[in-house]
This record gives sequence, structure tokens and C-alpha cells, in this order.
Amino acid sequence: MQTHHIHIKGLVQGVGFRPFVCRIAKQMGINGMVCNGNDGVHIEITAVDYLANDFYKSIISHSPGNAIITEHSSKKISHKEFNSFSIHPSNNRALPDLLITPDIALCDDCKKEVFDKNNRRFRYPFTTCLKCGPRYSIMKSLPYDRENTTMHHLKMCAHCHEEYLDIYNQRHFSQTNSCPECTIPMHLYDTEGKLKSGDSDIIIQLLDAALKEGKIAAVKGIGGYLLLCDATNTKTIETLRQRKHRPAKPFALLYTDIDMVQKDVKLSGDELIALQEKVSPIVLCRIKDNQNNIALGEIAPGLNRVGIMLPYTALLLLISEKFNKPLVATSGNISGSPVIYNDNEAIEWLSEVADLIVTFDRDIVTPQDDSVLQYTDKGKKIILRRSRGLAPGYFPNPLKESDECLLAMGSELKSAFALYNKGNLLISQYLGDQSSLESQKSYAVTRNHLQQLFNCFPEKILIDKHPEYYISQSGREEAYKNNIELIEVQHHKAHFAAVLAENELLSEKKPVLGVIWDGSGYGDDKQIWGSEFFISRDNHFKRGAHLDYFPQMLGDKMNKEPRLSALSLLTKLPGKQHLVRKYFSEKEWDYYQQLIKQPAMLLTSSMGRFLDGIAALLGICSVNTFEGEAAMRLEAIARDSVDMQKGVYSMPFENGILNWQPFILEMLEEYDRKENKATIAGKVFLSLAKSIAAITDELNIDKIAFSGGVFQNALLTDLVLEEMKTKQLFFHRQLSPNDECIGFGQLAYYFMQKPAQHNPVKQMAVKEFSY
Ligand SMILES: [Zn+2]
Ligand SMILES: [Zn+2]
Repeated sequence: MQTHHIHIKGLVQGVGFRPFVCRIAKQMGINGMVCNGNDGVHIEITAVDYLANDFYKSIISHSPGNAIITEHSSKKISHKEFNSFSIHPSNNRALPDLLITPDIALCDDCKKEVFDKNNRRFRYPFTTCLKCGPRYSIMKSLPYDRENTTMHHLKMCAHCHEEYLDIYNQRHFSQTNSCPECTIPMHLYDTEGKLKSGDSDIIIQLLDAALKEGKIAAVKGIGGYLLLCDATNTKTIETLRQRKHRPAKPFALLYTDIDMVQKDVKLSGDELIALQEKVSPIVLCRIKDNQNNIALGEIAPGLNRVGIMLPYTALLLLISEKFNKPLVATSGNISGSPVIYNDNEAIEWLSEVADLIVTFDRDIVTPQDDSVLQYTDKGKKIILRRSRGLAPGYFPNPLKESDECLLAMGSELKSAFALYNKGNLLISQYLGDQSSLESQKSYAVTRNHLQQLFNCFPEKILIDKHPEYYISQSGREEAYKNNIELIEVQHHKAHFAAVLAENELLSEKKPVLGVIWDGSGYGDDKQIWGSEFFISRDNHFKRGAHLDYFPQMLGDKMNKEPRLSALSLLTKLPGKQHLVRKYFSEKEWDYYQQLIKQPAMLLTSSMGRFLDGIAALLGICSVNTFEGEAAMRLEAIARDSVDMQKGVYSMPFENGILNWQPFILEMLEEYDRKENKATIAGKVFLSLAKSIAAITDELNIDKIAFSGGVFQNALLTDLVLEEMKTKQLFFHRQLSPNDECIGFGQLAYYFMQKPAQHNPVKQMAVKEFSY
């Protein structure tokens, strides 16, 4: 008999790993112990060699569904005597080194229990088990044990404690365990902050009655508060829009189950699977043409796709099931600010929007919105917002091994930072627009929290080159104050490095063409870049081509007002400016005419602004009421209208410049001839896809990688796939193509430039990453 020490790293806490190990040991009649540490799971067993080997193999190859093993090792240690196999208290002697478990949606077993009259958790709103429940959002420190979560103050009843200790129970060592006897206290408040009830059954009944009367409710979820109201009630949705100061931005819908979804929504196979996955994201889906159930015109004006989600907590399931109709479900915030997650703030602020507020005593440490994704018609997945259920883990880590601690601060408008600590990679959830004070707070809270969890302090700070981004300025100041190295990375190079890293192409020897199309980023020539073609070779990016420049008018204002993009494009086409005159008042027109004449105007090559300009020229959207509105409307109108027989608009490519002038002139001519708007919009995207294909042929490059917010466009993505069938095309995988990938891209760019180091070969994971 020999004692063996097994060490397992990765995503192994909060996924039922210790109970699983315990069960295998009991089945094999092996004595020993298992415990959590800051660096993973540690196991000691005393057994004959062949048995110890079998045990080790079983653990690695049959690990629980939510676990990810990144490294594992076994070594012989001096003999220890064990009388049984048990779970020992956690030790936190080692430095933190593990993957953080994301929040996991309510599992099917728990769902059944909630609706089982004979189960003691019948209609219990906080039902969870080893396989499901909040994790990242309630974790205060490591390792993952009840006392380190925001459930530390709640004592399990005798019944729950019995489950907790029972090795064959699905709640054996479940840290979020609770039941009606030892419930998480729940409260219903009115808009005055007066407590109406503290009983979960009564709360759900009162809530249901209010929703049926057309009231709006704020309900605490996993990463923050949600606003709920009847999705079939036009008046209620209008009230919600008024109170939220949100005139047109689409709302997501919450359905009880897939059967209910399918009455209103046409689901593809991919969408059906994604909706039911443990991430439980919002999935953009196509609403059936003949549905007359939901108030589509109010929910998503001018669009035919709506975000759909299923309940990811027992509380949301119970509310939705009782209401028995689709509910509008949107982040509980005041226009533009991040989601509210603190109970006192919810009572104070959400009473302006909601008629009643439902809270409970399990605090949220880390605020998160719902993750959002969509599938193209060809089945390509595009992540639009990476948050609850996906953040903050990234596996496998495609960056080089290093002992450094690095903080990459990301971009401004769609912020998310990336923290690299001695081989551990964390990419934060979406943290909003950093020009707002509230988003800056959310960012700081999340960043301090993750740095504390890992007990790390950045030795280098990576920022976007932009001279005016708040996020870059704060990075500069911090580096200066603490006398640490500051590294500036150009925005589109970070995009390109991110998509290369996601596809393990950082050290690719053959040239790769990066097509980086987005709204704006500060360029190396001090102009505003945004449709860039880079060629990567020998760890170096060369700007191979870009869209011809046009004037960048008034920075931020141009991003919000497509009519300014249109005017800017027309300044280069003599005699055409009158086409947009109708979108301006006399005073405005005079002002912009003066502005255009100024000699030292900033220039832009932004594809986002180019498409905005087209949307305004076609009369689709002249001023955005929410970020990206013109782009979404243009895509929506074009999506079913691509006609391969209609030819393309010309975009000649010479000396690295794509000349868009003939493109716009031909388009305007067709518009003038009263060609169908949708057909023109379809032709716009087909022409762009063909122009990319032409450039790749001209440059003779076979590997092409795509990044930037423009590639959130499902239609353009499919057209690119269609036009370049013979090439190798690479897209983002776990991250969004929008600026949420910039933090990670800054790290990737840094590692690309850094000389190769000794890179120890790890025993890699035995399972595919499934988030
Ligand atoms: Zn469960
Ligand atoms: Zn209990």
C-alpha cells in the first residue's frame, strides 16, 4: 500500500468535483481524502498501485459535466493511514490558481423538483444543486465554500444538512443548498419602499396579479435586477419605454419553455440548443410572420428578430409559469447605466420604472447582464454580449506561459478588461460604456474583486492608444502613479490579435489577412480607422488596405447621427449634398456647411460610419436612438433581400485604397430610379463581401480572419462565407467581434511581440470546453 497525492487544476470548484471524487473512491473501496485549495482540488489516497492508477484514470476521464480539467498530476508521498474516504476542510495555503466557475442556469432535475407536488422543494424559488445555481456572481473569495459566498449568513436546516453530508445525494457538498425550511428571505416592496410581503408563495401570486393588470415589476436575478412586464400588452410596453427613456431599443422576451417559444418564434436547431444550454443566454431569433400574440411593433420596432430567453432561476421559472404568457425581460437600469444589482439601490432607483420590486437576501458581488448571441442562417455563432454564464473564464488559454501579472484595460464603448496572472487568464464580463460614471464604478468593482480573488497586482498595464478614452487615461495615470510599465496597443491591431489568438494563429508562419471593420479606433496616423486590412507576418502587422478616408465630423456626435455620416460622404461627391438637406434644420445646415469648409478636419475610414451613411441616404435611419440602431435596421431590411442576379456596386481597389465613391454614386442612382430599398440594402452587403473576396485574391492570401463590430452582422458574415468558400476563414469563438474582445486582443498583441520563452508542455484537458 502506498499513499498518492493527486492534484487537479482548472474549473473544478462549484461543479461537484469533491462529491464526485468521494463517490468514485467509495465505489472502488479506496480510503483517503479530498479537499479544495486555492489552486484546485487535492486528493490523497492510500491504495495498491494498480487500484490507485485506475482511480486516477476514472477521475480524469469521467469528471462532472460542468468541470474543465486544465492540468493534473499524481505523485507518491510518505505513507498515511486513512480509515475511510472523506471530504476535508479547504486549505488556502497555495497561491490562487484556478478557473472561476461561471453562474449556471437551473438544471432539468431541479426544474422537475420545483413542479413536483411531493418534493420538499415544490415551488421553492431558490432551488439549486451541485450542477446548477449562482457561482461567480456570489463568490466573495476563494476557495469556493459557503462561507466565502454571500450565502455565508444562512444556516442550513437539519434536512438540508443531511443532504449536504449524504454522498449519494445530488446536493452532497452543494454550497448553495437551501429549502423552504431554511429559505433565503424574500421581500416584496411597493414604490414607496414599503414591505408588502415576505412569503414567497404570496409574493409570486401578488406579482402575477400585478403583471396581469399591466404593471411593471423589478425582480432580482443572478447578476442584477430584471424588469418584467406583459409582452402582449402594447400599453404596458409603451409605459416601460417612457419610464426607461428608451424609445426604440429592442427588448428581450422571457418564455416558460421551448413549447411556448415555438408558438411565436421560428427556431433553428442551433437556436433551440443554445436556448436550453447551461449558459441560458438571450438568443436573437426570428419572430413568425403570422404570430399575433406578442406586441412586436413595441418590443422591437422595425426589426424582425427578438432576443428570447428561458428562465435560468427557479424564481423566474415560477413567475413565468404562473403568468403563462411571454414576458418582456430587460436589464433593471436607468437608461444607459449598468444593471442595478444592489438591493438598496434597486428600491431607491427602480421605483421610478417599476410598480413593485422583488428582492431576496443573497447579495450579488459581481454585476452581470444576460449574455446575448445569435446564429447566422448558415449556423455561425456570433456572441453579441459576453456576460452571465460565460464570464470570466476563458479556456483553453491560447497565450504564452509567463510569470507576469498583466492588466489589459480594453476599449471604451463596449468595455471588458483582461487580467493575466501567471498563466491564468480572466476576461471580465461586458462592463458598459466607460464614458459613464456608473459604468466606471462597475468596472472598478469587478476589477478590484478579481484582483483580490487572485491576490495579484499588475506589473504592466496595456491600454488602447486613443488619447481621449477615459479607460486609457485612467490606465496612463495608474501606470504613472505606481511607476509601472505602460504599453499602448492600436485598437484594430488588438482586434486582429484577438481573433488570431482565438484561432491559435498567433505564431502562424504563413500570412493571414485580418479584415477589421468597426465603428472607430484611433489609428497610427492619428486619423480614425475603421475598415482595415492587415497582413500578419513574422509577428508583425502591416496595414495592407483601407477604405478611402472621409471627414470625421464632431467625433461622438457622428457615431450617434447617421445623417452626419451621409453628409460627410456626400462632401466628396460634388452636387449631391442636397440629398440629405431634409434631415437638418436651417440653423444646423448652416453650421455643418461652415464646419465642412474647415481645412484641418479629422478623417475616418470607418465601415460603421460608411454603413450609417448608407442607412441615412436610403431614409432608413437618420439619427440613432440607441447604439448601433442604423446598422441593425439596415441589416434587418437587407436580410431577406440579397439577389445574386442584381450585380454589385463598384469599389475599385488601388494602391491599398478602396474607393467607395463609385459605390455610393451607383447606389444613389438606383435609389433615384425607385429601386426597392431592401434590394439596394441587400446589394450593399453583397458588394462589401465581394470586395473582400477581390482583395484577398489580389493579395493572394488564403487565410482570412474577421473582427470588429461590423461582423456582428449575420448577413454580412454569411455572404463572406459564401463568397470565399475556397479560403480558410477565421472568426471569433468565445468572444464577441465587437470591442469586448479588445482587452484580450491587447494581451494577445503583447505576447505576439514578446520574444519566445520556455513554454512548458502541459497535460492538456481531457474534455472540450463546452461553454
Ligand atoms: Zn440543479
Ligand atoms: Zn433547508
